[in-house]
Amino acid sequence: MTRRKFIAGNWKMNLNRQQARELAASVAEYAPGEVDIAVFPPTIWLAHIAGELEGSGVRPGAQNCWRAQKGAFTGEISPAMIAEIAPLVIIGHSERRQLLHEVDALIRDKIDAALEAGLEVILCVGETLETRNEGNAVAHVSAQLESALAGRAPGDLESITIAYEPIWAIGTGEAATPADAQEMSAAIRALMRTLNEGYAERGRILYGGSVTPGNAVELLGQPDVDGALVGGASLKADDFKAIVTAAI
Ligand code: PEP
Repeated sequence: MTRRKFIAGNWKMNLNRQQARELAASVAEYAPGEVDIAVFPPTIWLAHIAGELEGSGVRPGAQNCWRAQKGAFTGEISPAMIAEIAPLVIIGHSERRQLLHEVDALIRDKIDAALEAGLEVILCVGETLETRNEGNAVAHVSAQLESALAGRAPGDLESITIAYEPIWAIGTGEAATPADAQEMSAAIRALMRTLNEGYAERGRILYGGSVTPGNAVELLGQPDVDGALVGGASLKADDFKAIVTAAI
């Protein structure tokens, strides 16, 4: 089956309000209908950007959420709050796993809460260079996925897009080779098949890590790579649009 390609831009903690608006407007103006597109602005700009994108087909999302819908969690933002503004949330990005010590159990709880609020999730998984060099990349990513996905109902699984983001490729300019991205994506799809056949058929796997206009066509041409999660290049309108074009 052919899955619609999905290009997502993670703006991380970048851009002031005006810059974020201008970038959103530029992406919204381009948005071709053949590709699913989403952008993930800093949460403080999310409502502004959601307004900017209205009617464009480009969907806004949050870069993170907390595991409860409300309560005494100073500084956190709940899935229910996000759902009032945006349909998507990224969970388990490696920067949060590494810098904020998010562990698999917390990530599972966050997915529970996001699904309960009706959000679609982009779940990030990926290995360090050390783990890859030890030959344990597939085992590591599989364990992350098992922890996040095991025991979920088929309908819930289909609300979860997987982003394979090798940590050594994020922000380094050194993307995985198309062959490596495909090999891991095929392993991820095999694991999805053990959970649910329909999920393996319809669920999307994104590649993330130094995607640029220069390498996007080849990466997106791999049979099990259904899109890209783009960091640095998503901050430049022309580069992001070129990556979207590569997905058509
Ligand atoms: C990311 O952080 O999700 C990412 C893929 O970043 P970059 O494209 O800058 O490597």
